Amino acid sequence: MQLPDVAEDQAVATVHRAMEIGINHYETARGYANSEELLGRALKGFDRSRFFLTTKITPKHYQNYRKYIEESLTRLQTDYLDNFDLHGINNDEQLNYTFMKGGVLETVRKAMSEGLIRHLGFSSHGPLEIILKTMETGEFESVNLHYYYFNQRNLQAIKRAGELKMGVLIISPTDKGGQLHKAPQYLMELTSPYHPITINLRFCLSNPEVTTVTVGAAHPDEFNPHIEAAKYSGALTEGEQEIIERLNLQYKKLGGTLCTLCHKCLPCPEQINIPEVLRLRNLALAFNMVEFGKYRYKMFENADHWFWGKKATFCTRCNECLPRCPERLNIPDLLAQAHAIFSLDKGKRKWSD
Ligand code: SF4
Ligand code: SF4
Repeated sequence: MQLPDVAEDQAVATVHRAMEIGINHYETARGYANSEELLGRALKGFDRSRFFLTTKITPKHYQNYRKYIEESLTRLQTDYLDNFDLHGINNDEQLNYTFMKGGVLETVRKAMSEGLIRHLGFSSHGPLEIILKTMETGEFESVNLHYYYFNQRNLQAIKRAGELKMGVLIISPTDKGGQLHKAPQYLMELTSPYHPITINLRFCLSNPEVTTVTVGAAHPDEFNPHIEAAKYSGALTEGEQEIIERLNLQYKKLGGTLCTLCHKCLPCPEQINIPEVLRLRNLALAFNMVEFGKYRYKMFENADHWFWGKKATFCTRCNECLPRCPERLNIPDLLAQAHAIFSLDKGKRKWSD
């Protein structure tokens, strides 16, 4: 479970409810506001052997890494971390902070030898290639990444993790996976009788390589669709498979404008993350996930290596990407349309289904 940014009493009550229903892994990060402190407070008094704790620190803090690990332990009110992730290995720069002489790996290995950290993993919001490259170093026991029904780009990394016998934690399947806690009515109807959260969690967990998922509940009453997903394990049931097929069929609505997310159009000289912009367009048109698209689209140019790329308006129509697209998409026009959709005021609509 990951703790969102909510009032202290509510956060503590949410963690207590999580413990009550059997959630036993709590995941946070130095960079998540006061989340470490809140978790420490909320879990105080519970038998430490009843739960696992993960926190994360970005490698760029390599000069203060030891101090920061100790601060995390203090805030979490614990003597040890069950798991520690290098947070956000999203590019070669973060990899360098990790592996350079005097880098964070040396610091973490020392902390492990002293019993402060039991297991080491890494998280990434970066390109698939960086995730695979980091996994192949053989230094990590687990990977923490994005993989959801609505974003299956990292499937290859999940399969490789299985071969390498690494654990896999899915980051934020509910929020980053599509803001499914406020799913549009249309999507709710498509996944009925299940909640979109339930179907997405079952989709993730039906991969045998996936070890666990984060829940990200903000209120004690928000666990129901997650509990529903936990009722089953293993392969998707026939009913669940039917819903996935129903969702897959929705992409037909896009006809010849569907981006298949192959990533062959990159690189763009203007640093536009073409596949990600067009993925958001796919979701808006196929599932009415416009608000989710706006939420993610506005992060371009505002989140550094955590969500790389510029907004679609930077397209100069140089056409370099066109011959690389196997679908023969008119990428500049589709980018312009995506920008129009995600820059609209709520309620206005300038495109047709
Ligand atoms: S046409 Fe636009 S999106 Fe394609 S490479 Fe040129 S600037 Fe990038
Ligand atoms: S090459 Fe075409 S289909 Fe593939 S990601 Fe780029 S725009 Fe989409």
